[in-house]
Amino acid sequence: MGGVVVMNSFADILNKPTLFRDRNVLSPHYIPEALPHREKEITKIMETVSPALKGERPHNLLLYGKTGTGKTCSVKYVMEKFSSVPSASKMVYVNCRIYDSKYKILQKVVKDHIPEFYKQGYGFSFLYEKILNWIEGDGKSLIYVLDEVDMVKDIDDLMYTITRSNDELKRGCISLIGISNKVSFKERLDPRSRSSLFETEMVFAPYTSYQLREILKQRSTRGFVDGVVEEGALNLAAAIAAQDNGDARYALKLLLKAGELADENGDSKITDTHVEKARRTVDEDISVEAISTLPRHQQIVLYSIASLQCEGGRYSSLGDNGNSRINGLLSGEVFERYSLLAKKFRTEARSARWYREYLNDLEMLGLITLTDSGKGQRGHTRFIKLACSPQKVMQLIESVVFGQSIAPSPMPTG
Ligand code: ADP
Ligand code: MG
Repeated sequence: MGGVVVMNSFADILNKPTLFRDRNVLSPHYIPEALPHREKEITKIMETVSPALKGERPHNLLLYGKTGTGKTCSVKYVMEKFSSVPSASKMVYVNCRIYDSKYKILQKVVKDHIPEFYKQGYGFSFLYEKILNWIEGDGKSLIYVLDEVDMVKDIDDLMYTITRSNDELKRGCISLIGISNKVSFKERLDPRSRSSLFETEMVFAPYTSYQLREILKQRSTRGFVDGVVEEGALNLAAAIAAQDNGDARYALKLLLKAGELADENGDSKITDTHVEKARRTVDEDISVEAISTLPRHQQIVLYSIASLQCEGGRYSSLGDNGNSRINGLLSGEVFERYSLLAKKFRTEARSARWYREYLNDLEMLGLITLTDSGKGQRGHTRFIKLACSPQKVMQLIESVVFGQSIAPSPMPTG
């Protein structure tokens, strides 16, 4: 019997030569022990929250800036320092993409700190009462860190509740740190919550290419074997990311992917060629990730655009290129489709005001482009175009929403 030698083994895989020393360091969840070029911001956050350590109420603070400018990691960095100082006070981190309502935000603090009351079915006032008792128990200062606070549906209610709780509390207090990628969300707030949420504001500017280079340098020293990352690779990754909104997350992704590509190829150095290749794969991944993590209504709007665009293609092949479709879809027809489709996605369509904001979000993420119609043509409207393949968008959203591809059902035409 000719013995077949099985070469596959985990040992072989694990012993495969690699340029990585610690991949984990390149992950977006890793928080380095120092955050270059955010020292000032971190100091200011620390100063703002410090009264809590003496049992006083810190001012509310709003941090905003584009994605990847280090808002989340700066605050998490401060949270770690905060929790290492002995005090009754607490900072509680809430990702509002998940906890997107006043009720869920209260639930989160109960879940983290008074778990005996964390059960489905408790009403709002019950939880509210428990939280106030918990705060009064030792007169703590509770600092809610609401990341992506613009996702909170009933933010005005929440602000009202917090203001009221500070009046009701005999000891202790609640304050907020809001974090947002959008400045525009300010306009949606009612004036009272606006002035209260914006007691202090801070803007995180996009990183420059130079700053990104240093951030990458710091991570690559820990993440990769000494000397394998070429300067040219770091410079290129930094330059690409600086052009693209100064986003450190994107820069790190490029570097991670470049390392993987070099490994796959058995190369001994990471060069600008790997970075260039990495850029293409990362861009592809990012739009998939961006779409699948979009809040539901934005997904439905995007789906509406994709489905109309698929049909629009048919129109033009029939020779009906009469008018506006050349420039893109009309904002109004997309809204109509969105209202119609919402049901199919088991939800209720939001108002036109929200819809316009969703469009802005989608544009900011680079998923669509918007152009103004200018004067004359049908009054003032916007033309909408998808920035990626409509078929792919539809498939992706269907699989994310329904867990599997569904056969597109024919849409009534208006
Ligand atoms: P934002 O919340 O503004 O979108 P994050 O705080 O999530 O941005 O940062 C994105 C990624 O970039 C994270 O992986 C973080 O580790 C990294 N990062 C951002 N700023 C810095 C910095 N100054 N130094 C080191 N890493 C950073
Ligand atoms: Mg963030």
